[in-house]
Amino acid sequence: MARGKKIYEGKAKILYEGPEPGTIIQYFKDDATAFNAEKRDVIDGKGALNNRLSEYFMLGLNQIGVPTHFLKRLNMREQLVRSCEIIPLEIIVRNFAAGSMSKRLGIEEGTQLPRPIVEYCYKDDALGDPLVTEEHIAAFGWASQQDMDDILGLALRVNDYLSGVMYGVGIKLIDFKIEIGRVYEGDFQRLVVADEISPDSCRLWDIETGQKLDKDVFRRDLGSLTDAYAEVARRLGLIPKNNGVTKPTLIN
Ligand code: UDP
Repeated sequence: MARGKKIYEGKAKILYEGPEPGTIIQYFKDDATAFNAEKRDVIDGKGALNNRLSEYFMLGLNQIGVPTHFLKRLNMREQLVRSCEIIPLEIIVRNFAAGSMSKRLGIEEGTQLPRPIVEYCYKDDALGDPLVTEEHIAAFGWASQQDMDDILGLALRVNDYLSGVMYGVGIKLIDFKIEIGRVYEGDFQRLVVADEISPDSCRLWDIETGQKLDKDVFRRDLGSLTDAYAEVARRLGLIPKNNGVTKPTLIN
């Protein structure tokens, strides 16, 4: 499919104009970054795995009635999505303490939280995506009260879906981040899950061993990132079981 002009290049993806108005092509790069891009590397195969995994989760969400921007996967590295206006928030849902929450509140990683906790960060790399409250969001007009109600509903539905899918393959969903976009349909706007859902944006621990199968492998130098992501893809049936681990062949 013909790609249009480059619209935006981020840390892990490039966006191009799509073939029809209102569509965008998302290209998944092999670049990995952490700690606000202070640590960076190119990891062969990561882009293809995230493209396939994100397709899997977004399709599943569409099928249970949670709207997403996803239209279809085009090839190993590209997917066609609906163009939307991204709300400048990272929506984080946590089931177990980890990462910045553990640090901030002194809670040991892996501690089960009394209920899922939703946090919002303002998307601004220069500021290091600071944690913000609904007060900031309302006062600065980043989202309306109705948007916030809808975002919370979407975030909790994504959490239930992802937790269940992961539990089915022996993985505990510790936390994840999503982004939400506005799609305009005539005079109406609808909120959809946008960006990507992949081990880059989730914490995934093996239920039995606690082994990390997510970007913490890269952040904390715990071994091969593609092996970890390929393991998630393999358990979900996206890679043949007997496939070698270094160059995973994705099943179409
Ligand atoms: N996360 C993300 N992008 C970000 C920040 C966080 O995808 O810019 C994800 C991260 O992978 C984890 C969850 O959101 O699954 C919570 O991250 P946390 O706030 O603990 O930050 P971190 O420890 O990753 O800095």
